[in-house]
Amino acid sequence: PIHLSIRNVSKTYANGVQALSHINLEIPPGMYGLLGPNGAGKSTLMRTLATLQEPDAGSIHLGDIDVLRQKEEVRQTLGYLPQEFGVYPKVSAEEMLDYFAVLKGITQRASRKEVTEGLLKQTNLWDKRKQKLGGFSGGMKQRFGVAVALLGNPKLLIVDEPTAGLDPAERVRFLNLLSEVGENSVVLLSTHIVEDVSELCTNMAIINKGQILLQANTQEAVMNL
Ligand code: ADP
Ligand code: ADP
Repeated sequence: PIHLSIRNVSKTYANGVQALSHINLEIPPGMYGLLGPNGAGKSTLMRTLATLQEPDAGSIHLGDIDVLRQKEEVRQTLGYLPQEFGVYPKVSAEEMLDYFAVLKGITQRASRKEVTEGLLKQTNLWDKRKQKLGGFSGGMKQRFGVAVALLGNPKLLIVDEPTAGLDPAERVRFLNLLSEVGENSVVLLSTHIVEDVSELCTNMAIINKGQILLQANTQEAVMNL
């Protein structure tokens, strides 16, 4: 099992906003919740971990990978579901997932078929596979996003505010899917919804104004709230 270690990470944007200030987090395998209000710095941290932007300072290690220096290695073992996950409306789920699988380097048709079938079943989209993504509900789109993020069997899955806009039934279904994934990797969930964390995450941190206010076992943290 892999471990994610974030040391002294800071980021100030060109407009002077300090989005991250000396972030230190030790993230064990399993479901980990990053809880904070809008503007707290969650997306900045998620994008930094996903190697999509550079911090001004600090270091990040995923197992023995130096995340800020070994970007290709990180990308091989990372799944990232961004807050705004765009899909091509006119393509079927099956076709789109197959296409992403090619991009992920699964070039053999037979293994691609096996992998995409497994993921469509895991995300409960197998019977929807011929439907065009444009007709998918918000919850179906998010589950499809997880299927894409899980291509290549990542050791770290990052999901940024995934439950925003889901109806209650879809939300439960989506969170259950994440918790299954969390059984054998690090799943980092960013959210402003306390229940997303309290219902699902073993460990958690609270972030506000770019600073970590608390890092704890969720049960202990909730008892002290
Ligand atoms: P960096 O310092 O990482 O290069 P910049 O401050 O140059 O970031 O901004 C990068 C992009 O984000 C720009 O296109 C900018 O318009 C946009 N941006 C600026 N302010 C915000 C904000 N508050 N929230 C989201 N995006 C923003
Ligand atoms: P959260 O995901 O918790 O809502 P963000 O990481 O998106 O927080 O934003 C943290 C702070 O940085 C906010 O004040 C936001 O306006 C600002 N910000 C985010 N992206 C940019 C950007 N590209 N350029 C300038 N400021 C930004």
